Amino acid sequence: MTAPENQPRRPAIFTVDDDPAVSRAVARDLRRHYGERYRVVRAESGADAIDTLKELKLRGDTVAVFVADYRMPQMSGIEFLEKAMDFFPLARRVLLTAYADTHAAIDAINVVDLDHYLLKPWDPPEEKLYPVLDGLLEEWRAVGDRAMPYTKVIGHRYSDRSWEVRQFLARNEYSFRSVDAESQKGQQLLEAAGLDGSKLPVVITEKGETLVEPRDAELASLLGLSTAPQLEMYDLAVIGGGPAGLAAAVYGASEGLKTVLIERATTGGQAGRSSKIENYLGFENGVSGASLTTTARRQAERFGAEVITTQEAGRLKVGGVGAAHSIQLSDHSTIGARAVILATGVEYRELQVSGCRATPDDPSEANFVGRGVFYGASVSDNSECAGEDVYIVGGANSAGQAAMYMSQTAKSVTMLIRGPSLEAGMSQYLVDRIRRTPNIVVRTCTEVVGTVAEGDHLSGLVVRDKQTGETEQVGCDRMCCFIGATPRTDWLEEAGIARDDHGFILSGPDLREKVGWTLDRPPHHLETSVPGVFVAGDVRSESAKRVAAAVGEGSMAVMLVHRYLAEA
Ligand SMILES: Cc1cc2nc3c(=O)[nH]c(=O)nc-3n(C[C@H](O)[C@H](O)[C@H](O)COP(=O)(O)OP(=O)(O)OC[C@H]3O[C@@H](n4cnc5c(N)ncnc54)[C@H](O)[C@@H]3O)c2cc1C
Repeated sequence: MTAPENQPRRPAIFTVDDDPAVSRAVARDLRRHYGERYRVVRAESGADAIDTLKELKLRGDTVAVFVADYRMPQMSGIEFLEKAMDFFPLARRVLLTAYADTHAAIDAINVVDLDHYLLKPWDPPEEKLYPVLDGLLEEWRAVGDRAMPYTKVIGHRYSDRSWEVRQFLARNEYSFRSVDAESQKGQQLLEAAGLDGSKLPVVITEKGETLVEPRDAELASLLGLSTAPQLEMYDLAVIGGGPAGLAAAVYGASEGLKTVLIERATTGGQAGRSSKIENYLGFENGVSGASLTTTARRQAERFGAEVITTQEAGRLKVGGVGAAHSIQLSDHSTIGARAVILATGVEYRELQVSGCRATPDDPSEANFVGRGVFYGASVSDNSECAGEDVYIVGGANSAGQAAMYMSQTAKSVTMLIRGPSLEAGMSQYLVDRIRRTPNIVVRTCTEVVGTVAEGDHLSGLVVRDKQTGETEQVGCDRMCCFIGATPRTDWLEEAGIARDDHGFILSGPDLREKVGWTLDRPPHHLETSVPGVFVAGDVRSESAKRVAAAVGEGSMAVMLVHRYLAEA
């Protein structure tokens, strides 16, 4: 075992393998690539490794990644990783396995929340080892414990804007730490920046730049994102930067169309809020929504698409067959496009309970949105809910993912579902995982009927058993609602875009049956009632509401745009 003494305090990459030759080979490959930034520490047995971990912990050192061999006598790699999590819970976890042990590795994804498994041998490491570890180290740096300069977001725990700022940064995979303005550290930072804390949140970047109450557009420019289109006319304008819009931008730009994507907030859409998407093809260990969609944004930009964030499309003026359509943006500028793809997705429905409406009809009604009540997953980093009693309302996969993610640090997670069982709305893999998680409780046939306040934030809920009608008050630090979603398509009415009774956009064959299509040719699949305007993803009537379906439709819509442009 290499002794950690006398080495600079860099974060460690920790490897354990009982075969000395393999152990040395792993350490050699790791040092070659990561030696300058990380300390490679190796051990040749689980027990030895645990002793070293204790030593590292005592010295205040950090571990970024564990790489453990699966087949070790006395203590298997999975057992080791389980123990190692007690010392360094934020470190990423990789299991080394032989091909025959792949099933054990897949099981370990559930047991120790494995981040990756690597098949031995991993030659060449440039292809099989480093890309995996690069990704994990990047993730670790985003949340991990490290002695490096980092961006701080100083705000109140119960402030909706502080929460929005953190979400904006996290969804773009921008690494930061959240600091409570009331804490000693928060006070010190504000004082050092010459601020009295009356205006929050404050973002202090790694370079010391200070943004007070930053607007989304300022955050976007901090991140180097574009907020204004460069041209007046495009071949293709994609509205919405979720998976469908991002796929359309990648395919549009890569196939030579001058493409612009307009996104109201930040790219990622609903998928960007998912802590871990596990059923998207090609990611056997799952992928965080932020990681998937940030990569997709970069990919679209690499092909030459302009990706514009913090601009909402508010008006579509139809140009007639073959002529350009024009789109008005929230800064009142207008762009033209020969074809348009609408990929505006859906938004969570609000719980119609006092305290849970962002803009209540009665202004005297309390509003805890962003102050204990959240729509969708509420944490950009699960340490935000450490020690809390969290309630998750809803029983679909998105609710299940959030429950699993928050259960890692929350004191308790209670899922409230109106139906009689989880199975009705959730994939079995998640149901099984939830059942195995001791601090998640599932309450069926239960609904929220009231909120309880402490000051200006949520402190409890009133829940009702739908079978007995009995109500009960429970303590709750954070409630995250996942109760179905609706499209925001009212702005398309003026353009004559036909929609179904729920506001979802009709397209292709549905138009002929329900709306009446006037052109000689039939509408293309995914073409809306306005020729040259296409729809993709969750906003389409009868769509599948899945990442893969949205991506598929976004790419297919581009093929149909080509067909339309060729005819026009
Ligand atoms: C927490 C969570 C977890 C999920 N997990 C999974 C999973 O594990 N597997 C799976 O397959 N699916 C999952 N889903 C569903 C999946 O994320 C969606 O089906 C997918 O994101 C739909 O993509 P989309 O591009 O059609 O729409 P969205 O993702 O909804 O994106 C639409 C985008 O359009 C923008 N927009 C809206 N109106 C305008 C406008 N007027 N101007 C500009 N921009 C606008 C919005 O801001 C948004 O960014 C999950 C959803 C959630 C919420």
